[in-house]
Amino acid sequence: MTLQKNTEEKAYSYFELELTSEIHIFEGKFTPSKCNAEDLSICGKTSRKGDNMKQIIICLNEDGARKKASSIGRNVCGTCVSYLYESYE
Ligand SMILES: [Zn+2]
Repeated sequence: MTLQKNTEEKAYSYFELELTSEIHIFEGKFTPSKCNAEDLSICGKTSRKGDNMKQIIICLNEDGARKKASSIGRNVCGTCVSYLYESYE
């Protein structure tokens, strides 16, 4: 019997704070149609429901989210990005 690890694939979405161009990552789960996302960013500092939040990209898997973070570069919140790497196994 194989033990199935309870690793439902997570979905990551990127939102940009328009005032500062700072980008935060939001974690969620894939749904049949798309994906959802937590209200709070991974770092806990930003709510995607706040004013001036612009959706950049949604529903990336973990690998895609990491690639996106490195392609966007320094505007992405470091705390959010480090989480992507910490959860990597
Ligand atoms: Zn952040």
